Parts: sequence; C-alpha cells; structure tokens
Amino acid sequence: MDVNTILDSLNDAQREAVTQPLGSSLILAGAGTGKTRVLVHRIGWLIQVEGVSPWSIMAVTFTNKAAAEMRGRIEQMLDMPVRGMWVGTFHGLAHRLLRTHWKEADLPENFQILDSDDQLRIIKRLMQALGLDETRWPPRQAQQYINSKKGEGLRSSHIEPGYDLFEKTMYSVYAAYEENSRLLGVVDFAELLLRSHELWLKHPELLAHYRERFQQIMVDEFQDTNAVQYAWLRMLAGDKGNLMAVGDDDQSIYGWRGARIENIRQLTCDFASAKTIRLEQNYRSTSTILKASNTLIANNPDRLGKELWTEGNDGERIRVYAGFNEVDESRFIAARIQDAVNGGMALSDIAIFYRSNAQSRVLEESMLRSSIPYRIYGGQRFFERAEIKNALAYLRLASNQDDNPSLERVINVPARGVGEKTVQQIRDVARSGGVSMWRAAREMVKGKGLTARATNAVVSFIELIEGLSLSSSDLPLDELADHAINVAGLIEHYQKEKGEKGHARIENLEELVSACKQFDPDAVFYDKMQQNLSPLDAFLAHAVLESGDAQADQFIDSVQMMTLHSAKGLEFPLVFMSGMEDGLLPHRMSFNDSGKLDEERRLCYVGMTRAMKNLYLTYAESRYLHGKETRHHSSRFLREIPSDLMEEVRLSATINTEMSNASLSLGHAEMAEIGLSLGQRVTHEVFGDGTILNFEGQGAQARVLINFDDEGGKWLMVIYAKLTPLSVNGICC
Ligand code: ATP
Ligand code: MG
Repeated sequence: MDVNTILDSLNDAQREAVTQPLGSSLILAGAGTGKTRVLVHRIGWLIQVEGVSPWSIMAVTFTNKAAAEMRGRIEQMLDMPVRGMWVGTFHGLAHRLLRTHWKEADLPENFQILDSDDQLRIIKRLMQALGLDETRWPPRQAQQYINSKKGEGLRSSHIEPGYDLFEKTMYSVYAAYEENSRLLGVVDFAELLLRSHELWLKHPELLAHYRERFQQIMVDEFQDTNAVQYAWLRMLAGDKGNLMAVGDDDQSIYGWRGARIENIRQLTCDFASAKTIRLEQNYRSTSTILKASNTLIANNPDRLGKELWTEGNDGERIRVYAGFNEVDESRFIAARIQDAVNGGMALSDIAIFYRSNAQSRVLEESMLRSSIPYRIYGGQRFFERAEIKNALAYLRLASNQDDNPSLERVINVPARGVGEKTVQQIRDVARSGGVSMWRAAREMVKGKGLTARATNAVVSFIELIEGLSLSSSDLPLDELADHAINVAGLIEHYQKEKGEKGHARIENLEELVSACKQFDPDAVFYDKMQQNLSPLDAFLAHAVLESGDAQADQFIDSVQMMTLHSAKGLEFPLVFMSGMEDGLLPHRMSFNDSGKLDEERRLCYVGMTRAMKNLYLTYAESRYLHGKETRHHSSRFLREIPSDLMEEVRLSATINTEMSNASLSLGHAEMAEIGLSLGQRVTHEVFGDGTILNFEGQGAQARVLINFDDEGGKWLMVIYAKLTPLSVNGICC
C-alpha cells in the first residue's frame, strides 16, 4: 500500500495532523471534522511511513465496538492484519495489564470482575455487617462514594475522614469493602484503572517496560477522561512518549460521572511541546444541520471555541414536529421511518435518540406496531430492565401466587430480612412436598421450621402479596401497578440509590404505571385467546411478549435506538431526536444549575451533529411522565436554533387516516354536538384562523387539532380554546 492511500482522502489540516513529526499533539475539533479519521490515518502513517511497529502503539477508544471498528479500518487501509497493537477502552486495556501482571498487582491469578450490581450487593452485605441502617445509609450512596474516590485515585488509606459523620461512615464502608475485595480477590470497574495505575507506581520496572514499548499513545474522545484515566496516560507517556489526544470540549457529556473537561487544558501544560491542531471543516452534515448546531452551542460559556464549516449543500431544513402526546410523537416517527424505507433507505441508516431510557418504551411499541425491526444500542429493552422485572414480579404474584420465579425474585427485594438460607428452606420444602414455594412458605410460617425473625419476614411478605391479590380485583390496572410498586417498597428502595441510576430506575417504574394506564388489551391482542384475560393478565402477557425476541438480531437491518449519551462518535443519514421538551432535554434536574444546563446543551449538540442528511426534532405537548400526564413546553434549545433553519411539519389538510372509523364517527357525533366539524374553518383569539384536522377524546377531554394558517398544527382542548366557527363547510359532513 502506498502513502497516498493514507493521505488522499484528507484535507490540509487533517494531513498536517497525520503527517506531523513524532511528538505529542492535541487535535481539538468540532463534531464530524474527521478526528477519529485522523487518529486512524495517523496510525497508518506511523506504521507505514515512520516505520513504527504496531507493537508500540496503544489506542484508547470510547467503546469496544469503536475499538473493533478502528482495528478493521487500519487493517483495511494497510491491507494487512495488524498484530500486537493494543486497541480498546480504558477499562479493557487496564484489565489486560492486570491479567498479565496479576502477581505484581497483588491479585489472584483468576481474579473476578464485579459488575455494578455485584458490587452493590457486596456493599449492602458489608453495611449490614457493620450494623448500618439501610434507610439512613443507602448502599447506593456508598457505592457511588467508593467509585468516585477510586476515580479520583484515592484509597481509603489516603482519606482523612475527620469528624464528619457522613465522611466517617462512608470511609468505614470503603475500608471494609477494600478489605473484602482483597480477601475475595475481586476487582470492580473503577478498581481496574486505579490498580493498574498503582501497578506502575509500585513497580517502576514495569512502568519502564511499558513506556519503552508504548511510545505512541492515541486517545479518542479525550474530553471525557476522568482524573485516574488522565494520570494513567500521563504516567505511561512519561517525558518521551508521544501522545495524540483527540477531542472536542463541546462534546463533553460525562461530567456527572467524573469526567474532567479540564484535562484538555492540563494536557497542554503537561505536554508543553504538544502541538494543537484544529480541524474546522465538517464532512458529516448538511450546512443547515451544522449551522443549527453551531448556533446552539454558541450559547455555552467558556468554550475553547471553534468555527465549523462545510462545503456540503444546504440540504433540507430541520423538521420539527409537535405531537399531541408521546404516542402521537412516536407514531409520527414510525410513519416517517416507513416513508424513508419506501424511498429506499436502509433501516440501519436511521437512528432515534432520547434523553432517558424510560422514553424508549413508547417508541419501542410504535416500532413493534409498525413491524419495524429495531435495536436498543448499548442498553436494555424496557421490559427487561431489573426494576421493571421486579415490579412485574409483584404483579404476577398478585395474579398467581404459585409463580415460583417471581416469588424467588422479590421475596427479599427490597430487603425485608428473608435471607438466602430461608429461601433455600422454602425451596426444599416446596420440592419435597411437590407444592409451590408460596404454599410451602404459608405452611412453614405456621410451624416451627423457621427462626422467629425469618417467620416474621415471610409473614409480612405473604400479607403483602395477599393484599395485592385482593386489590387486583378492585383497582384499575394503572392504580394497581402504582399501588404495588409503592406498598412493595420499590420506590423507596430505589430512592436510596442516589445519583443518575436510581433516578432512572424510578423514572422507569413510573413509566410502567403510564404503560398500564395506556394499555388497551383490545389494541394489542396478539392472540384471540387473550381477549378473555383480565386486564392484569393481558398486560402481563403483553410484557412477556414485548421482552421476548422481538429485538432484531445484529444481522437484521434495523433502526438504531439509543440514549443521547451512547450516540457519541456515531453518525446516521437520518436522525430523530425525540422528547425535545423542557424537563427532558434539558433534563429538569439541570434547571437550577448553569453548569449542568451547559452539559445538557452539549448533549443536544452531540445528538444533532450525528445527523448527516436529515434531522427531525420532535416533542409531545403532553406526555405521561412519572405516572401522570404532564404538559411540557418545547425545549428551550429549539428556540436557540435559528427559525429559518427549521420547518414545522404540519399535518396535511386531510383527515388523519390512522383514525379508525369507529373513532371518526364518535368524533363526528361529539363534534356536531359542540358545533364543530372536521375541515371546518375556525378562528382562535391568539393563533388566528385555521382548519380543524382531527379530533380526540370526549367531554372535558375533547381536543381538536387545528392547522393554523400562521402557526401550524396545534392540539387544543375544546373547552378552553374558545373557537369561533368561520364557516360550516366541514369536509366530512
Ligand atoms: P465526532 O466528533 O462526532 O466524533 P469526528 O471528528 O471523529 O466526529 P469522523 O467520524 O472521523 O469525525 O468523520 C466524520 C465523517 O466525515 C465520517 O463519515 C468521515 O468518513 C468523513 N470525513 C472525514 N474527513 C473527511 C475527508 N477529508 N474527506 C471526506 N470525508 C471525510
Ligand atoms: Mg469521532
């Protein structure tokens, strides 16, 4: 392969970055300017022209998938397999080091890695042993404390707890956790990095070996590194190593997890000779998308500043759609996806983004209903999430107490003092008696087989389920779900998990209540048999089916659905950003904190700059959120985008074809009663004249969709809208 292959497809600034003499550099550039491309080509250049051995290159990427792609691209460019090069995430690379040097790292040879659930379980147990009351000292909080200290590079021995009760308590848990991990020979995610950093501190000979080996270090998405990651890189590079860091301060979106944007500035101090190269030409998006993104992000203070431009054409305007509610919003997205597919687009070229995981449910349902294969990128489907499975297990038990897996799942979630030993006893009795665990448990609490404490705990569980079972015949489905989640203590349980994760779980539980409220067994009968089911059983069947194998496997062409956070680094010809509402994006928790609001704006910027050709920003005027109908304003970020770059998608002046005949005639009768008809011209005090396009709901809930001549489509409540008819030429009369 000749050098030209490496350089041909680069612009001048990119070429300068790729061909610079050996040394350190910072490539600071906006989205879609070819940073990742430069990194890949630089590696090709180093190997091909500088004669650097792949053996001496380490490249750090954001995900394992990105690592695999990078390796593939390098091999394709060089037309040969590249062996010996280390490409991976920080965690992956640190893990590799520890596996190789387990002895020096003071680990058993077969040390196990704890995922975050395992870690939490251990912390919980230790806190119980320390006599700490869970309600006062939530284990999640301790987990977060431990991980953030590790992220800052601090062991418990580095901490001086002082007299503060919180610090002292957290410190004691941290110390106990460290001791326990040592005894068990286990390592959590944060530990991987901290320990490999310490490995080098304690073993200068090893550090010297790796410094000698990895003289070329490349890091993508540098803006999202935390303190230990930076220290680790800094150490490895030493004074002689060559570090190429590639990043964009405008795309720093992990501040909440300890990422430090300041690392960019720190790098230019620590590597004084590092050359800073800026790339300004964007190759990804149309100039409309780019202009809109640039204008949005210009509202952030303290940017390192850059101007992006493109030679690309204007492309189409950004489409904004205001859904009447989230179901309408998601149906709109599904319909547009179908249009795109009919126009010849591959599903894998289409992405839907949302701010929080809970938003995926309604979107997933729309995809299923329209038979559009989809994948949730880097995440779980709604009904497979742990908190949802826990809530469903309670509902299942309310319906059928003999459901052993559900009983096993939640008999001690939240913790109510039913230990593993008791569960085993119940299991044994059930098995030997050939009865369900529920029946076994009920018999056992009458006898003397269990300790007094265990008996009390099991009795309280039995009473809880019996209560739910009774309620299940009286309460409507959504109220039953809400009641079950609350009396089972799940909300309280997850409230104790401080931070983003706990919050997300509660949001998901509230979303489950919304799902119950919106559930219409008639609309989802997959099977005629299910028509005779109670609403609860129909819903449970629906949940099982939804969590089944409907998620397209990776080889099937499918729409990519993901949170904005996991969209980083990716690009798609067609992007839908849903939930563009104040309260979702920006998230309501950022309203009173300008730093957080800036991070939300960066998140919005990351989302918009993923779009290559077409971008849709959609929102819902009302949505079920946290279990109740909430009315949101459209996102303030929409108002920061120049209006001439956007166009509101109006529903065409025909009656919504999705409306069934039944609802049409219902709407018709109702409308006639209030003196309105479809197609009728009306005037509104504020919005002016418009045409009635659609109608939903009854009585006080009745709403009409009006296409206003100046303002576009709006859904209005009939009782408040004070509409004055202009003529009576309804197209459907
Ligand atoms: P992000 O900030 O989102 O991570 P990035 O700066 O890493 O973006 P890349 O993903 O490397 O950008 O490139 C964006 C798109 O532009 C890719 O499709 C890439 O192939 C294309 N591209 C980059 N440079 C050029 C070029 N000189 N000529 C043609 N296409 C290019
Ligand atoms: Mg990139």
